[in-house]
Amino acid sequence: MSDILSRRDALKNLALAAGALAVPVSRIAGAAAEAPHVAATDPTAVALGYHEDAKTVDVKKFVTYKPDQSCANCLQLQGKAGDAWRPCNLFPGKLVSEKGWCKVWVKKA
Ligand code: SF4
Repeated sequence: MSDILSRRDALKNLALAAGALAVPVSRIAGAAAEAPHVAATDPTAVALGYHEDAKTVDVKKFVTYKPDQSCANCLQLQGKAGDAWRPCNLFPGKLVSEKGWCKVWVKKA
């Protein structure tokens, strides 16, 4: 009888331990989900003239830029509308600012 109880206790303790570990693992997975932001020095960003804030675009240098253009209304932007940082098809594994812009901006249909 005491063997059965001790096995039950051992299984119960194992289940409690597994439950306790589940929370930190989910927190680690959530933290890893946030991808890095595209840096101004990123070679692709430089090549595409990416600006984290479209309001800082030099209109003489980037003549295709129009004030109503930003990543938020670009066809290439992915993710959830309203998020400040979202994935872009041109920067795999990184996030761009919704207020950003680059010279391959395409109007979202
Ligand atoms: Fe922003 Fe569009 Fe350029 Fe991506 S392709 S950085 S969403 S303007």
